[in-house]
Amino acid sequence: MTKILIIYTGGTIGMVNDPLTGALIPFDFKQIRQNVPELTRLNYHLDVHSFDPILDSSNMNPIIWAELAGIIERTYHEYDGFVILHGSDTMAYTASALSFMLKNLAKPVVLTGSQLPIGEIRTDAKENLITALEIVATKNNGLAMVPEVCIYFDYQLFRGNRAIKYNSEKFEAFQSPNYHILAEAGVNLSFYGNYIHHHPKGAFQVQSDFNPNIGVLKLYPGITPQAVQAITRSSVDAIVLETFGSGNTTTAPWFIQSLQEALDQQKLIIDISQCQGGSVELGKYETSKKLQQMGIISGFDMTFEATVTKLMYLMGQRYSNVEIAALMEQSLRGELTH
Ligand code: ASP
Repeated sequence: MTKILIIYTGGTIGMVNDPLTGALIPFDFKQIRQNVPELTRLNYHLDVHSFDPILDSSNMNPIIWAELAGIIERTYHEYDGFVILHGSDTMAYTASALSFMLKNLAKPVVLTGSQLPIGEIRTDAKENLITALEIVATKNNGLAMVPEVCIYFDYQLFRGNRAIKYNSEKFEAFQSPNYHILAEAGVNLSFYGNYIHHHPKGAFQVQSDFNPNIGVLKLYPGITPQAVQAITRSSVDAIVLETFGSGNTTTAPWFIQSLQEALDQQKLIIDISQCQGGSVELGKYETSKKLQQMGIISGFDMTFEATVTKLMYLMGQRYSNVEIAALMEQSLRGELTH
């Protein structure tokens, strides 16, 4: 019988209204079970690991990512796969982080949650949970159909490190602007095999050290030297530069000089676009030529979520700056197209 571990971290899926404040607060897994009697009709052996405390996903952090990866590492050989119930707000960050932490993953790790709590009549939680379990259980020639970290939400399965939460209100909360979906749930589950990772050759390994000492600099017309230098002159080890279009920035001398100072202090600077679709192409325009010459790293078409988690992950692995720069521009887990 297929064995699946459900890891319940929290999120709207299991929330109830606080009788005192009226705000949504996380609640225990028991009421998820009560609200989804269908779970007993699935022909799977399900175990549940509940986080304590259970969280609104805005409180996620690298320590909790490591805890999640640790649970998977310790139970990896006992289960056919894992469903992680998680708040949708930071689900794409956790999915990206896990994709880097879990090397040579041969089993599905599917994150899901919902926009409405499981106790509400119009909830999207039941469908998301039941289909996520079915995806984890799907095999192809005896091997897991989807041996990667993914997000299942509103009838679509996304590669975890390609997904973004783009809507806080629609049931269709996620998109994957730069990568084809991995599967779609209609009457049948349709898998898009050409886009799914092959089974790994090496042994499964977990690497969960992160260095979160990064800064983010989002550009806008009119940005001041004070705003830029608050980041470039700070003590961060790396800067994610959110640029315009295909990776362009102002060419104002003070701006270029501020970036150069940061590079001279051995800070890594990585350029990703504020556009959600498309890729950074350093050197395409005059306004990014200088960045390329200075040695700014291209994030190509990575999501913001994948960029920050990959950077924290690589900086936690004690690589040199030269190695990190090279690895940031390569696809490690299918997070970028280059
Ligand atoms: N605030 C919730 C969370 O991320 C939202 C959700 O689950 O959809 O935990």
